[in-house]
Amino acid sequence: MGLQEYKRKRKFNETPEPEGEVKQKHGNTFVIQKHHATRLHYDFRLEMDGVLRSWAVPKGPSFNPGEKRLAMETEDHPIDYGDFEGVIPKGNYGAGKVIIWDSGTYDMVDPETPEKGWKKGKLHFILNGKKLKGEWVLVRGSREPRQWIFFKVRDDHASTEIDIVETRPESVISGKLVDDTGGKTPSKQWIIPIERELEGFGMKKAGRSPIPKIVQPMLATLVEKSFNNDDWLFE
Ligand code: MN
Repeated sequence: MGLQEYKRKRKFNETPEPEGEVKQKHGNTFVIQKHHATRLHYDFRLEMDGVLRSWAVPKGPSFNPGEKRLAMETEDHPIDYGDFEGVIPKGNYGAGKVIIWDSGTYDMVDPETPEKGWKKGKLHFILNGKKLKGEWVLVRGSREPRQWIFFKVRDDHASTEIDIVETRPESVISGKLVDDTGGKTPSKQWIIPIERELEGFGMKKAGRSPIPKIVQPMLATLVEKSFNNDDWLFE
């Protein structure tokens, strides 16, 4: 397969996502990225064949073996993508915010290699993640080959009580929630340049400030008494 489709969809001079390459190594990492694009979903990725095989899981994983989750097969991603957390800018493929929701390694139960499982359309594996543990299965749909089903196998880690996507929404890397990742809040964009400008009036060195992107208009505030201060001149 390779990364042709991955590369064709992205403009690497605009997006912070890694360009990456097919690796020769045979690792067994997995990652789940929570991706708030047009629609929120969880991108489940298993390392095999030198890339990260990928599925978009709209509802995310469930520890309840009764919950069969749809996992839409998506294009292979480079292994370096497993470290990506940040903001995909507007106008780019998958524009939105991404956090590393879970990561770790996986071990095959059946068949013995993920490459064989991929060909067969059924992978049974153990996840050694920070959130996800125990045995899981991915099965390719019979009618729609890109529609897989992802579910928990009944074992000691299975639970009908814990809704893991609700109880553990945060990044395992930064601790951030998906909507809090990246970008500054609008207020900081104008406060920082103005503060620098004020420093320029005497106390510290006058540096060049970028032109504020947004200038907040000064608004009148109702107070009890008029303001006075010996350090100020009024005209
Ligand atoms: Mn995605």
